[in-house]
Amino acid sequence: MATALHIKQANPSLKVLVIEKEDKIAKHQTGNNSGVIHSGLYYKPGSLKATNCISGYHKMIAFCDQHSISYDLCGKIVVASSEEEIVLMNHLIERGKHNGLEGMKVLNQEQLKEYEPHVTGVAGIHVPQTGIVNYIKVSEKYAELIQEAEGEILLNTKVKDITNNGTISTVITNNGNHEGKLVINCAGLYSDKVAKLTQEKLNVKIIPFRGEYYKLTKEKEYLVKNLIYPVPDPNFPFLGVHFTRMARGGVEAGPNAVLAFQREGYNKSDINIGELAESLAWPGFQKVAMKYWKTGMGEMYRSFSKAAFTKALQKLIPEIQESDLTTGGAGVRAQACDRNGGLIDDFLIVEDERTINVLNAPSPAATSSLAIGETVGKMAVSRVSV
Ligand SMILES: Cc1cc2nc3c(=O)[nH]c(=O)nc-3n(C[C@H](O)[C@H](O)[C@H](O)COP(=O)(O)OP(=O)(O)OC[C@H]3O[C@@H](n4cnc5c(N)ncnc54)[C@H](O)[C@@H]3O)c2cc1C
Repeated sequence: MATALHIKQANPSLKVLVIEKEDKIAKHQTGNNSGVIHSGLYYKPGSLKATNCISGYHKMIAFCDQHSISYDLCGKIVVASSEEEIVLMNHLIERGKHNGLEGMKVLNQEQLKEYEPHVTGVAGIHVPQTGIVNYIKVSEKYAELIQEAEGEILLNTKVKDITNNGTISTVITNNGNHEGKLVINCAGLYSDKVAKLTQEKLNVKIIPFRGEYYKLTKEKEYLVKNLIYPVPDPNFPFLGVHFTRMARGGVEAGPNAVLAFQREGYNKSDINIGELAESLAWPGFQKVAMKYWKTGMGEMYRSFSKAAFTKALQKLIPEIQESDLTTGGAGVRAQACDRNGGLIDDFLIVEDERTINVLNAPSPAATSSLAIGETVGKMAVSRVSV
């Protein structure tokens, strides 16, 4: 949506059609995420994530201001629970500084409690820039602006095939065929499938990882003022349950990360044998599973055991009890995995003659959406304008 919006704003005379298989927009990753406006603390300096997160952050705030979308720059704390985590936390601070973050404050045990009275840790960081927003509202505004600029959005339309005759591509859907000079694939959990329609050999596969949340009961929401994160394990930066006050209200705890047996499998019982078999047969996934089976089993265990999930949360807030948590929603991450077992960390955009494929756009891609949209949009405009 952000890419379509950028193209229409950069060159209003270009015709843009957004094709979406669902009956509304933002039904998948965008509509099921944590709603955090990330500040750029974690990402490797110079990576696409770091540069797009920071410029995307400023664009997102300006966009919300301009279009009266409510958000709250409530800040977050990152909590070190052991002496070893302090070492990792210090790396994080250096990374944040490198990425241009200002105003971070190192906290001792007592100072942590000034921000979050119920948290326990040996030290922490306060990051004032982090905020919360409802990304469904943001996407709806993107859609509105695209349509106002005479771009078209077709819902209930699933891309089934793409052919091209050298100059024009034809996108074949359940709802007619659509021709264009350039196809941009931003299909999230199915981005590899759509890319395969035009590229025989693709070295990555999307492996879906479900992230499950609990919600704090109304009476216990007082335990969390804003956003509370653990120091991430550098080997698994996307793991580690945290607490998030949501822009739409309530406090979520999670997510974990378990292999989803279906790409859009939001429930434990959702299974698509074909999709599961594909994940399991992918050599890259087999390598990941062999290497990290212990971590994976831990995540699975927490998925089925509320007691274990609660225990993970108690690392940050010891007084939380199982009875304080009710089942929340879930989101499924589209994690690109290469053939050699590399879980691709950075955003990945791959071009071929007729298409631009956004093949890996995990967190913080909602925060960064306007920056990614600008990057991809510029690539597109330069290709079709010549
Ligand atoms: C659990 C979770 C928590 C997250 N938390 C945050 C956060 O707090 N902050 C942040 O910045 N980021 C967060 N993210 C990441 C962020 O949500 C995603 O990176 C971002 O939403 C990706 O947007 P997208 O448009 O690429 O994918 P999606 O939102 O998944 O959109 C892809 C769209 O393509 C459509 N589609 C797929 N196949 C076809 C087809 N064949 N034909 C037509 N349409 C098709 C789908 O229906 C879907 O609507 C989180 C992600 C998850 C999963």
